[in-house]
Amino acid sequence: MPVSDLRVALRGMRGAVREHVDLGPLMHLRIGGPADWFLEPYAEEDAALAVRVCRELDVPLRILGGGSNIVVADAGVRGAVLHLGNLNRIVRDGNRITAGAGVTLPSLLRATKEVGLAGLEKLTGIPAQVGGAVAMNAGTRDGETFEHLVSLTLVEPEGRLEVRGKDQFRAVYRDGGLRDAVVLQASFELTPDDPKAIFERFSASLKRRNATQPVSQRSVGCVFRNPAGDAAGRLIEAAGCKTLRSGGIEVSGQHANYFVNDGRGSAAEFVGLMAEVKKRVHDKFGIDLEPEVKFWGF
Ligand SMILES: Cc1cc2nc3c(=O)[nH]c(=O)nc-3n(C[C@H](O)[C@H](O)[C@H](O)COP(=O)(O)OP(=O)(O)OC[C@H]3O[C@@H](n4cnc5c(N)ncnc54)[C@H](O)[C@@H]3O)c2cc1C
Repeated sequence: MPVSDLRVALRGMRGAVREHVDLGPLMHLRIGGPADWFLEPYAEEDAALAVRVCRELDVPLRILGGGSNIVVADAGVRGAVLHLGNLNRIVRDGNRITAGAGVTLPSLLRATKEVGLAGLEKLTGIPAQVGGAVAMNAGTRDGETFEHLVSLTLVEPEGRLEVRGKDQFRAVYRDGGLRDAVVLQASFELTPDDPKAIFERFSASLKRRNATQPVSQRSVGCVFRNPAGDAAGRLIEAAGCKTLRSGGIEVSGQHANYFVNDGRGSAAEFVGLMAEVKKRVHDKFGIDLEPEVKFWGF
């Protein structure tokens, strides 16, 4: 079946099916061309249907969370992008909190702080959605997403809905080990604590972040993974790359592992700057930096 029939095949899916949607405005970096299709299912079973149909029709499918760790090519991506913003419920059952994949981490942190449940404040300042935080096992020096995770509701790549315990995943540094499954919901077991104490820890992390990272600028956070026993930012700075520029993209003068877009940058400039920084670090230290950021459409 040709891809143009995707709308017909998805007629049983509640939610929105749109064509030629510009991804740039949805990305934290504000860069990227259009997706052929943009699917926003209404509920879990609609997301499962979208995954199943795209697989049956051989339509490449990508999952977009908060768009804070992706560089989309200037020419965009072929196939479909699935966005789970409608899965935005937060449910509390005692010390357990279940959040839809489309809930933003800042709103989840706010909710857990308010009810006096501690743990997730370790993720303060990460501009992710729950699904993206699980997929990347997002974390800070205080802890990672999988630390408090209990179980996940997922769509397997062939479209089957499953609930799986955390022990069925091998999460490592910046990788939740999902193997192409789509996260629909995540349940976290948290610890009761004084909301004031949680708030103080949250504020301290936020203050630290604001002082050391260009949080108000357009970026994808850390561009390269930290090599074992070192920090990519330290290596990039020591290789003399701070404020190095390619068109509208610059290595941040505040934190060298952040590349910021001044509003005029392109994906081509971003990857060009990555290549130059990687080369300079390799020339100086013999270390091959590996990207943390994901690339779509290259
Ligand atoms: C200012 C800034 C600060 C940051 N600080 C940190 C930090 O301290 N620690 C850290 O770890 N990261 C940090 N990041 C990077 C980024 O926030 C994380 O990688 C985050 O986990 C990405 O989540 P997202 O929802 O934005 O996912 P996206 O960027 O949309 O997607 C990232 C990956 O997850 C996949 N994905 C998204 N949703 C789902 C889903 N529901 N099911 C399956 N796969 C999915 C995507 O397909 C993609 O491969 C920062 C980024 C910025 C811009």
